[in-house]
Amino acid sequence: MFFVNYLPCCGLQPAGHYQETMIAGKNNIGENCMMQSDMKMLLNPALKEIAVYKVEGGQQAEIKLNQNESPFDLPLWLKEEILGEFQMEPWNRYPEILPYRGMKAYADFLGVPVESVLMSNGSNEMLYTIFLACLGPGRKVLIPEPSFSLYEKLALLLQSKIVRVPMQPGLDFDTEAILRSARDEKVDFIVLSTPNNPTSKSLTLDDIRNIAGSANAIVLVDEAYIEFSRERSALELIREMPNVIVLRTMSKALALAGIRIGFAVCNPALMQEIAKPKIPFASGRLAEITLMRVLANYSLVTDTVSYILHQREKVYQELLSIDAVEVFASDTNFLIIRVGDASSVFRTLQHEGILVRNVSGYTMMENCLRFNVGLVEENQRLVRKLGTL
Ligand code: PMP
Repeated sequence: MFFVNYLPCCGLQPAGHYQETMIAGKNNIGENCMMQSDMKMLLNPALKEIAVYKVEGGQQAEIKLNQNESPFDLPLWLKEEILGEFQMEPWNRYPEILPYRGMKAYADFLGVPVESVLMSNGSNEMLYTIFLACLGPGRKVLIPEPSFSLYEKLALLLQSKIVRVPMQPGLDFDTEAILRSARDEKVDFIVLSTPNNPTSKSLTLDDIRNIAGSANAIVLVDEAYIEFSRERSALELIREMPNVIVLRTMSKALALAGIRIGFAVCNPALMQEIAKPKIPFASGRLAEITLMRVLANYSLVTDTVSYILHQREKVYQELLSIDAVEVFASDTNFLIIRVGDASSVFRTLQHEGILVRNVSGYTMMENCLRFNVGLVEENQRLVRKLGTL
């Protein structure tokens, strides 16, 4: 009764028909339809440098270890509680412009004022917001390399100059080089993923304090993997350092990748500014309710983090004894290995139903594979297979 089947107007066709006409080469969207190359001239020139985002090997596998997710879904009783509450919400009404209930819950959880937090639809969306607030043509961003690929993509889209600072050969951060480049290049913005995806290495809190204290730049500290880290969070810097923003995700340790929740945390004065480009109404009611319920049952998270850390150590030790594999010490929920031929090992594993990420394309990561820690049985199958290489 409530679902109106919108009929196409202005030449638009239902999906099936549209595809057919496109395949036949008779694009009927409009009479003045331009050729593809002309169209490209009308678009942001930065798109030329950007590839379509793809996950090699897809997102389905018997043993799926390629996206740094938690192997544990929420228990059914908690999902039912969440759905019960969600059911009582008015689905016909917009949520608040910003999800204040979720922001209050997370601020209380962290022990910071609510004016210091901003919630987003996954931390990716917050990265868009913060990059829009900090960059633009002529501005400079420092990004250690290799790091999370979205940073570079956003900087390119915003036509900003990227100052890349390579990691050390063992994939550790080069703090001295970051300090030097930030100063010499007079960057406006510094993005530090720590612990870093894809290297699995961290900066110390002292390093971050040093960088944020000496550079005249906004410093974004992406702590997507902080719950798995041996280092202290940069959250404690936000009161003393007005230029530091901490980014958090609920997609890793909190096992909510499918619900899409991220947060920025910083000094309230800076928050007022970075919130300006934020997409209004971007977080739905379900995300808020889920967050509140998971925070209220946080022992579930600490239990799974302990499991993952224990398994990370076990897998790491086992891989150390496999000659064909070089394994890097990790500060995250994933491990990096170097093998003889990453593409061939990727395919061998895929053939066994094990999906990992081939990260060989990143600078300094030739023949490297990345996989998150999974369930005991999954980890055992992976290690066993790697032992036969
Ligand atoms: N930052 C880092 C470093 C990541 O690795 C990821 C996801 N892999 C994200 C941000 C984005 O996570 P999400 O959008 O799920 O919060």
